[in-house]
Amino acid sequence: MTIAHSEGFTFDSWRGAVRPWLAAGHKAEGLVWQDGSNQIKAASADCEPNCVQPAVGRLRLPRVLMSLLQNLACFRHPSRWEFMYRLAWRVLYENPRLLDDPADPDVANAVTMDRAVRRDLHKMHAFVRFRESAGDDGTVCYFAWFEPQHEILRPGAVFFANRFPNMCWTIATPDGAAAWDTKAIDFFAPRALAERPREDINEHLWRTYYRSICNVARINPSAMQREMPKHYWNNLPEATEIASLLRDGAARFAARQKQGDHENFTAAKSLQRSLAQAQVPAAGIQLCRACDLWKHATQAVEGEGPKSARIMLVGEQPGDEEDLRGRPFIGPAGKVLDEAFQAAGLKRGEIYLTNAVKHFKWEPRGKRRLHKRPGVGEIRACNVWLLNEIEAVKPAVIVALGASALTALLGSAKTVETARAMDLNLPSGVPLVASYHPSSILRADAERSAILREALVGDLRKASSLLAPHG
Ligand code: SF4
Repeated sequence: MTIAHSEGFTFDSWRGAVRPWLAAGHKAEGLVWQDGSNQIKAASADCEPNCVQPAVGRLRLPRVLMSLLQNLACFRHPSRWEFMYRLAWRVLYENPRLLDDPADPDVANAVTMDRAVRRDLHKMHAFVRFRESAGDDGTVCYFAWFEPQHEILRPGAVFFANRFPNMCWTIATPDGAAAWDTKAIDFFAPRALAERPREDINEHLWRTYYRSICNVARINPSAMQREMPKHYWNNLPEATEIASLLRDGAARFAARQKQGDHENFTAAKSLQRSLAQAQVPAAGIQLCRACDLWKHATQAVEGEGPKSARIMLVGEQPGDEEDLRGRPFIGPAGKVLDEAFQAAGLKRGEIYLTNAVKHFKWEPRGKRRLHKRPGVGEIRACNVWLLNEIEAVKPAVIVALGASALTALLGSAKTVETARAMDLNLPSGVPLVASYHPSSILRADAERSAILREALVGDLRKASSLLAPHG
């Protein structure tokens, strides 16, 4: 990744400018910081009689100081560059362990500034909302307007380049804009506000989705505003729903309690219909933040297979390898599945393969990322994407692999054993066959693994036999 065309002091240009002065041991008080030109000069008054000339040499700043300075560089305050210099000088020449002293006024200030920048970055990651627009050559581009508290566009843009490497996007802020063309980030002056798209074709979908996943019974307005301060609402499409949800939340919840499952069923059906009409673009899922799983995954992994597939197979979530390569069932569990397809007389290329949850949920174990089961909230949040796939493919039979897939498809928890003993159908009438997830076969001991393998092959044959009347 390259970063091009910078204006004004950036962390890197500041570092280049202060390096000789720091290396020579000049105190911050002996330097003049020239606004606008971003130059540093030694003040003549302080340069006599023992004036130290700037030195060009190696200067090693501790890693922890470097990372702190990078954040302080984003803090919106005119004297931050000078403050950063003083802090670096004190660590280098006064006390190498200065940062371990929280009572030191400079350290205390640095911690406060660092926290404010981190919080602002966190909000940027969560609240940037891209809107679809057409590029000059007719290609699909995404545009977001964001108003950060601090000057965090550069680190924030790097985060989005890593998160959405295959999309062309622009993030504009009052300080400037960053554009990613799938290869490099270009920084430039902010666009006129009138240019930014106010709505795109997905806007109503987001609102419908937000209303459907918002748990009105648990809304706590003050906690919500702490997490989602009001000044961000202007640029959040779903924020238009918040006022009415707050107003009629209690009434809606009471009505839901009375009507029980019937309303949930009707709401799910109507959402399903609106999704079918909405034609979600393929790239849309990469922008989804309906739960927190996107934060630690490489990318959303969509389903794969022919749109005309008669059988759809729904697993739990992508694994480590799937997360990195962006395709479902290509890791060890995928190999078990391929063997089962072969034994059942099916071809992988004829089946649509997908997962209940589209981002990889994991926990660190040393250098490895270990699979972590998604929660019901995450399964529900992701249901919109699964329903959309079912609407698009219209399979004749769906095979649910494991309990998470069953929860996603049935809306309630069932063990695989219980579900395998039942004749199940989706509300639309599509038959549902329950089976074991291939990764549970990998985890089982040899004896149990053989039993589960056989069951999986049998269930795939059953799914295939349900197609028979249609040829
Ligand atoms: S897991 Fe699903 S709901 Fe959660 S962020 Fe990813 S795509 Fe969205």
